[in-house]
This record gives sequence, structure tokens and C-alpha cells, in this order.
Amino acid sequence: MENCLFCKIVQGEIPCEKVLEDSDFLAFKDINPKARVHVLVVPRKHVSSLNELEAATAKEGGASPEVDGQALLDFVVRVARASGIEESGYRAIVNVGPHGGQEVPHLHFHVLGGEDLGDLR
Ligand code: AMP
Repeated sequence: MENCLFCKIVQGEIPCEKVLEDSDFLAFKDINPKARVHVLVVPRKHVSSLNELEAATAKEGGASPEVDGQALLDFVVRVARASGIEESGYRAIVNVGPHGGQEVPHLHFHVLGGEDLGDLR
């Protein structure tokens, strides 16, 4: 999608520090980390927010979904594993909309860890 920051990162127009990628998802380091490990996970295809994931996941007539929500969750865990925090624990957060503090309107998980997060929000 035009003028979408994370679409530009997916397309390589804006650089990022890649952590993990496959044909559907990309994980890269947050530019303003809130914990020792702070990785963002995005679907390559544009989905504005978690609210739109259900429609994107719907399989019409047996066709592949635009974005597979289960595969996205599995990828988040792979990112935690690749970051060495699967066992120590982490937080996977999705901000949605204005009250949720979503600044970038392209669905993304924050994967935070590498330290005791306590009450960090
Ligand atoms: P949210 O507030 O949930 O939409 O999160 C957006 C996140 O994107 C914030 O944590 C920002 O620090 C992060 N961010 C913004 N621009 C970049 C960028 N160019 N590369 C990596 N992370 C970014």
C-alpha cells in the first residue's frame, strides 16, 4: 500500500535490521527499542490492523488466504526462538487503533524480551 511505512520496509525501500523472514512475514528490530529484545513482526501483505485480520484470513472457495492468522502466530514464536527468548519468556503485543496506541496502520506484533519486563507497557 502506498505511503505505508511497513510496506516500504517490506519492499526494501526503507532499510531495516532483519531478524527473520519467509515468503509471508518479515521480522525486524524496532528502531526505538523498549526492551533488550524488541522485534516487530509484519505480514508482507498490507493489513491495516488486527481488526482486518479475520477478513484477510478468510479462505474463499478453497483459495489461499491473504494472510494466515495461525501462520502469523507461529512466525511470532519462531522470532522469539531466533531471538533466544523463547524459554526465558517474552511479551507479544498488538496495538490496535487510537486508544491502543497504534501509530503505524499496518498490522504488527511487538515481540519484547531479553529481560524481566515487569510492568512495562
Ligand atoms: P505502534 O505504535 O504499535 O504502531 O508501533 C510502531 C512501532 O514502529 C514503534 O515501536 C516504532 O518505534 C517502530 N518504528 C517506527 N519506524 C520504524 C522503522 N523505520 N524501523 C523500525 N521500527 C520502526
